[in-house]
Amino acid sequence: PVVAHPAIRNRGTFGGSVALADPASEFPAMTLALGAEIEIAGPAGHRRVKADDFFIDLFETALQPGELITAIHVPLFRADQRFAFDELARRRGDYALAGCGMLATCAGARIDDIRISFFSVGNTPTRVKGVEATLIGARLDAERIAAAQGALEGDLAPPDSDEVPPAMRLHLARVLLGRLLGRLGEGA
Ligand SMILES: Cc1cc2nc3c(=O)[nH]c(=O)nc-3n(C[C@H](O)[C@H](O)[C@H](O)COP(=O)(O)OP(=O)(O)OC[C@H]3O[C@@H](n4cnc5c(N)ncnc54)[C@H](O)[C@@H]3O)c2cc1C
Repeated sequence: PVVAHPAIRNRGTFGGSVALADPASEFPAMTLALGAEIEIAGPAGHRRVKADDFFIDLFETALQPGELITAIHVPLFRADQRFAFDELARRRGDYALAGCGMLATCAGARIDDIRISFFSVGNTPTRVKGVEATLIGARLDAERIAAAQGALEGDLAPPDSDEVPPAMRLHLARVLLGRLLGRLGEGA
């Protein structure tokens, strides 16, 4: 429901969005958060590429000339996992100024594994591995969430833009990260 408006959603496709790799789009970033694999068919046959290896640069992907995305494989959601997603946009349906999705594998209150992916913060959808490292093996209390927010600057380098200066985008990303980790801590 956060992707544009009904008319766009009725025509746009999951594969088209991932192939286009707009860094402001939700689906490409969520393939990263979910650890998805992109199935590609081309003149040389079929191959599968991890989302982590698929997005190369601005609107540039691992797709070669003549290749098509034919499927996107998303691992099944498990009972020990928690997911949170949100974005900040000026108006509902607009591309986000910053957005984030995360998937955590938990043992009770402890995070055993987490994948966090941002969109609208750089040239590609962006996993924040430094932030992830601060959370693995930890419990989500206020202190840990603040440490994760502090680590964000090392993972993100938002591009300069007249409308949204990098410092503002980084601030929005920090706010989102704090909110979403708070929701994960409550069992989102
Ligand atoms: C007004 C407006 C608002 C929008 N807002 C948002 C938004 O908030 N969030 C968001 O994520 N998107 C948004 N979009 C983009 C929309 O979701 C696009 O439709 C989508 O990103 C592209 O998907 P598509 O299926 O239409 O692909 P197309 O536009 O048909 O294709 C995009 C590109 O990918 C190629 N392609 C398509 N399918 C494949 C495939 N299977 N394999 C290989 N290459 C392929 C095409 O050749 C083309 O180069 C918006 C679009 C509009 C017009």
